[in-house]
Amino acid sequence: MCLFCKIIAREIPASIVYEDDRVLAFDDINPQAPTHVLVIPKRHIGTLSELQPDDDGIVGELVRRAAILAGERGIAISGFRTVFNTNRDAGQTVFHIHLHLLGGRGLAWPPG
Ligand code: 5GP
Ligand code: ZN
Repeated sequence: MCLFCKIIAREIPASIVYEDDRVLAFDDINPQAPTHVLVIPKRHIGTLSELQPDDDGIVGELVRRAAILAGERGIAISGFRTVFNTNRDAGQTVFHIHLHLLGGRGLAWPPG
């Protein structure tokens, strides 16, 4: 089982900030901004490259949930960033897709 599937199964603890039947969101263990939340599907998908047409709904739910969490944390107006890293050059380290929600400080662009 992958690391994030273990968090979903409660085999590894996490600071969970949202959960429903399909989506889990939790604080990143190594936060890069005052808000750094990972929003993941409960169904294992390794990378964006594996997405199928049937996955369009869950990807939309991840993005919409990130926006709702940003609103709840008061960073929707100041601004926030949502990122999926895919494979080596993007620095993907956990191969279960996760949407990073980052905010609460100015974020440089372009990213490193
Ligand atoms: P990636 O580099 O794959 O886009 O992002 C993986 C993220 O998962 C990193 O930001 C990293 O800090 C986070 N992470 C890795 N292991 C754990 C863990 O056990 N718990 C939590 N909450 N986050 C983790
Ligand atoms: Zn997984």
